[in-house]
Amino acid sequence: MRLTIKHFLCYCLIVAITSPLLALLVNRQIRVHYLTVLQKNLKAEAEAIKDRLLPSLRSEDSREIDSIVDALGKRMEIRITVIGIGGWVLGDSRADPEKMENHADRPEIIQALQSGAGKSIRFSATMGEDMLYVAIPVEEDGRCSWVIRTSLSLREVNILLRSLNSRILYITIIITIFALVLALFSSRSLTRPISRMIKVTQDIARGNFGSRLHLEGGDELAQLSIALNRMAQDLGRLFSEIEMEREKVHTILTSIREGLVVLDSDKKILLANENFNELCGLTENPVGKYFWEALRNVEFNRLIEAVIDKEEPRTREIEVAGKIFIANSAPLPDGGVVVVIHDVTRIKQVEKIKADFVANVSHELRTPLTAIKGFVETLEREIPSKQRRFLAIIKRHTDRLINIVADLLLLARLERHREMLEIEEVDLAQLVSDISVMYNERIKRKGLELKISIPRDLVVKADPFLLQQLLINLLDNALKYTEEGEITIVASPADGGVIIKVADTGIGIPEEHLPRIFERFYTVDKARSRKLGGTGLGLSIVKHIVQLHRGKIEVESSLAEGTTFIITLP
Ligand code: ADP
Repeated sequence: MRLTIKHFLCYCLIVAITSPLLALLVNRQIRVHYLTVLQKNLKAEAEAIKDRLLPSLRSEDSREIDSIVDALGKRMEIRITVIGIGGWVLGDSRADPEKMENHADRPEIIQALQSGAGKSIRFSATMGEDMLYVAIPVEEDGRCSWVIRTSLSLREVNILLRSLNSRILYITIIITIFALVLALFSSRSLTRPISRMIKVTQDIARGNFGSRLHLEGGDELAQLSIALNRMAQDLGRLFSEIEMEREKVHTILTSIREGLVVLDSDKKILLANENFNELCGLTENPVGKYFWEALRNVEFNRLIEAVIDKEEPRTREIEVAGKIFIANSAPLPDGGVVVVIHDVTRIKQVEKIKADFVANVSHELRTPLTAIKGFVETLEREIPSKQRRFLAIIKRHTDRLINIVADLLLLARLERHREMLEIEEVDLAQLVSDISVMYNERIKRKGLELKISIPRDLVVKADPFLLQQLLINLLDNALKYTEEGEITIVASPADGGVIIKVADTGIGIPEEHLPRIFERFYTVDKARSRKLGGTGLGLSIVKHIVQLHRGKIEVESSLAEGTTFIITLP
């Protein structure tokens, strides 16, 4: 129901209740007032009659009394009754006293005798209608001897009141109509501004922030309209700011070459730039879909799950639709995730071409080098010992070349065959003991000591061949770069994995070289490394093997004191 109607009906209800009530109240009040005035008049008239009648009463001439009463009653237009002792009527202006019954029991008479004045409104048996009576006693020698009663028919009173009533009703109807018209205007004047306010708020909700409301006056509604206008203005400004920000973000997102996707905590896509869709080969706009729904890629989904679970950034190489991406993902404060993908397919292809080239070249070189070495050894036997010196040089360089080629081939194999790891449970103590056997002779020759401390049942899950290669490289380095003291190999279980430490008391590595020693062909002292038959590839191989096993390698070293390599395998 509309507010105007509601408001108007409310007014109607109030008017419908108050108008009759008011009319009734006025009517009663007038009647009471009118009767009081009439009573007073009747009493005054009775007093006047008393003085006029007193001589006739004293002479007890009833005929004279009756005729005086008749005359006075006619003149005053009222009924006058004179009652003697014992209640007998001595005279009446409207009836024959002889025929009237005893009046001693009439309430106004009893009251007059008792308290000096009496009144009552009741039905008159003599007149056959409702009458208003007033009675006063007349005293003779200090005692009540007669009672004079004046009375008036209520018929006239009622006629008068009825005409008054119709007038009251008339006025009430006029007031009621007036009140209702006023109510209608008041309701409309209250609801009209509200309707306008509703229209303006609907406009604002639809995005029309220019819509304004102008209400005159300084009442609450006018103040509300001012507040509404200000709100519309603020909202408009805020929206245009947001719109501008959105525009900016959109421009940034579309201009970056990376693919970007933002997910909420339920892994629903909130935002994805065009590059993301293009890079991942999505034909439909994925916004609003679950990520797994838009892109069915196990690795990608696992990455997102890991970031949500661990609430920390992750970077992973991911293959989607034949392309290789580096995916950088970070958690958002509200539990969601943002992922930026960078296409590295080209780089990977170049890397692969490079690795293939190195592997092919190494492979091709191996056979001629082995042949050269074989022929040099044959020649050694044939040539006189004086000229063998040159052959020895050729042989040493050939050995170095063979070593480099072997290391390059191993590196290429490690890079190309990540998935070909053959993981087994390796008895670490046994493995280290087997390796040490190969080096015992050299260690003894150098006057060094090899200390091994590995628990008997320590088992590590790894590729046995690669793990052996790793330990050989580290032990070989320790042996190469240590002149006196000892080499220690220690292993212990740690955090669900194994820690292996290979330490020596050798020459150490200067601090500035530490960050680079795992690079290919990087050597601290080229001449020394070459002299010792080093290739500069050993630690590079070690690092690759550790990474293939998802472990980590650290190095601690101080000059002239020694070096310790610490490997943690999961
Ligand atoms: P290389 O074949 O020359 O030993 P690596 O890759 O094995 O090549 O090692 C790189 C460089 O790190 C070495 O040239 C050497 O200077 C340094 N290095 C490696 N291990 C040790 C060690 N145990 N003590 C001192 N220096 C070392």
